Amino acid sequence: MNQTSSPPTAAPAIVLRAVRKSFGSTVVLDGIDLTVAEREVVALIGPSGSGKSTLVRCVHQLMPIDGGSIHVHGELQGYEQHGGALRALGENAIAAQRQRIGMVFQQFNLFPHMSVLRNVMEGPVQVLGDTPDHARQQAEQLLDRVGLLAKRDAYPRQLSGGQQQRVAIARALAMRPQAMLFDEPTSALDPELVGEVLAVVQDLARQGMTMLIVTHEIAFARDVADRVVFMESGRLVEQGPARQVLSQPTTERLRSFLSRVN
Ligand code: ADP
Ligand code: MG
Repeated sequence: MNQTSSPPTAAPAIVLRAVRKSFGSTVVLDGIDLTVAEREVVALIGPSGSGKSTLVRCVHQLMPIDGGSIHVHGELQGYEQHGGALRALGENAIAAQRQRIGMVFQQFNLFPHMSVLRNVMEGPVQVLGDTPDHARQQAEQLLDRVGLLAKRDAYPRQLSGGQQQRVAIARALAMRPQAMLFDEPTSALDPELVGEVLAVVQDLARQGMTMLIVTHEIAFARDVADRVVFMESGRLVEQGPARQVLSQPTTERLRSFLSRVN
């Protein structure tokens, strides 16, 4: 009726309900409930081996979950209704869902035999069916945004780790994802290169990108994340507004974790 009123409440960007995942007899995700709202930035912290990478990999459907459910923008991931039951989606349908989320890994995984520009153009041309002209224009804009337009014709091996990671972010953004997942995007970098990558992520946050970021950079989480989630032994132990959780942790386990990493 009233066209100027706010749109109907959209589904949250990412919703995990009672997600379980085991490797053999090792329970790695032990009933995870987590919601990331549209335009929200959530930092996921926790000790090594607590299941952080597994969690984001499951959201990106790089591995199937054993129980619970994951919805992205209201759409159940990996399954469809079939009669009264759920049926696993085929590979193509899963690929289509995966494409709506960008993921950046600790290791940058650029295509070594392609120029920086080609790295960023390749997905849009091959997967989205963009014309090369359009893909090039978009790639140039994105490289400009991450401060690397001048390196468009360089090859990955000619770039620093920080530059390669910025290209990897541009490449993920080129697929026009609705949300981004980061798995310790700076932990493979020399300390002096961390800042330039975090600045790009911070810029994305300012522009309203929905993000779930695994990080051990506590100061970054405090400054950039809306919410911090602390994970240990496959469970979410504590979560809340970033500053509050990081400055006044309520659990002994988070207090002890923060005293070890700070
Ligand atoms: P984090 O990212 O918090 O360090 P991970 O999600 O990588 O934790 O790992 C959580 C646990 O799951 C660890 O005990 C790890 O050894 C185990 N794990 C992770 N991936 C695999 C796998 N593909 N096969 C077997 N065990 C795995
Ligand atoms: Mg990890």
